[in-house]
Amino acid sequence: MERDTRKNPGLLKLDLYCRGALIDDSMRVNDDGGRPILRTRAGLGSGLEVILPDNLWTNIPVEEDFTKASPYVVRRRDNGELWIDEGQEPIAPIQLAPRPGWYDHTTSSGKKMTAIGTLQGTYLGVYPSRVCEYWTEDSPTNCKFCSVGLNLGADDAEEKRVSEVVEVAVAARDGSDITYIDFNTGHYKGETFLDILEPYIRAVKDATGCMIGVQTPPHADLERYKKLKEMGVNRVSFCFELYDPVQFKEVCPGKDRQYGLQRYLDAVEYNATLGKTSKKTFDPWVSNGEIIAGLEAPEWSIKAIDWITSVGAIPTVCLFRPLKDTDYEDQAVPKTEDMIDVFAAQYECCMREGLPINVAPNVNVSLVMLPWECRWLVSKSRRRRYLLKETKMAAMKKVFAAQFYAKLREHDQRRAKAAGA
Ligand code: SF4
Repeated sequence: MERDTRKNPGLLKLDLYCRGALIDDSMRVNDDGGRPILRTRAGLGSGLEVILPDNLWTNIPVEEDFTKASPYVVRRRDNGELWIDEGQEPIAPIQLAPRPGWYDHTTSSGKKMTAIGTLQGTYLGVYPSRVCEYWTEDSPTNCKFCSVGLNLGADDAEEKRVSEVVEVAVAARDGSDITYIDFNTGHYKGETFLDILEPYIRAVKDATGCMIGVQTPPHADLERYKKLKEMGVNRVSFCFELYDPVQFKEVCPGKDRQYGLQRYLDAVEYNATLGKTSKKTFDPWVSNGEIIAGLEAPEWSIKAIDWITSVGAIPTVCLFRPLKDTDYEDQAVPKTEDMIDVFAAQYECCMREGLPINVAPNVNVSLVMLPWECRWLVSKSRRRRYLLKETKMAAMKKVFAAQFYAKLREHDQRRAKAAGA
């Protein structure tokens, strides 16, 4: 693997997650047309959204204490270019993730559009309902890395009407060419999370034609996922965070008490089988198992990735970030060196199983390293063995993009006709 971050943007993305960066006085994010640094994003990150070389979108930690020791500095040159430097040494030219015009708009109900949904990379993330109930119990059992409950009243509006979410989703499609919208909820008593989400899903799918993803706890009635698929959902994601059962209990006491690790795994596996039936029609349906690397031994994270891919699901691997004011704000951030094998396993296991990574059009993710991006962490000689599969995937990507945009055009024509009628 190329160890020089000037030549390896994948390694740079990982190293920036682990070490963060300082912002030089030459930078003024809002004045530069970039996105504001939101306090929290889906409870996972807070930081500067930028685009690294090779079109790798990322969210660089800049606010947490550990970033004060970072060797990286984000600077503006006299000619206006933005760079990541290591000390005074230039490492990579970067661009700020563009700040969409709709970020300054309000909904017709008078709320800031960014309080309804925000871009994470190039997709829209929406947390439409009230805060996760682990936070509001008498003795909260929230996940210890999570910041969702700290966010209330700050960047996120609590109640979001279906019409407000539709308005923002349409603004994001029109203004930012998004292709994918992700709905996220926490835990609610009575497992009402899918009941809550379904009206949003139906309305947003109908209004935008975009691909839709859903991230909730695992519902006891697995048949509900077939219904979601029929409704036009394309991705379901289950965050079990840790594969080591002892750590799972320790870090996620609410999830452990309410659902247990096994139920998350069963949901990942069940939904992966739903995807297999749609392979021939090219109908996108993906089951994701989501973990956080850096909160358990790397061997456990690798085991998790190996298991997720073995059942036909795709791993999403976040890197632990000790966010300010969370229970784990004083925990150490993982070391880059310890994380390389974990992230490399993401790419290698997906390729081994022939899973469709890097296929969805225009979905760049800033908060995690996508499996495809992790190819940068694998040696050239090992990558060579996947050459044929990579070629097939590139062809699949083209076909899928053509089909997706054709469907989107049909959707728009139908809507325009209905509006004119
Ligand atoms: S389930 Fe855990 S990670 Fe998700 S919102 Fe609730 S406390 Fe946060």
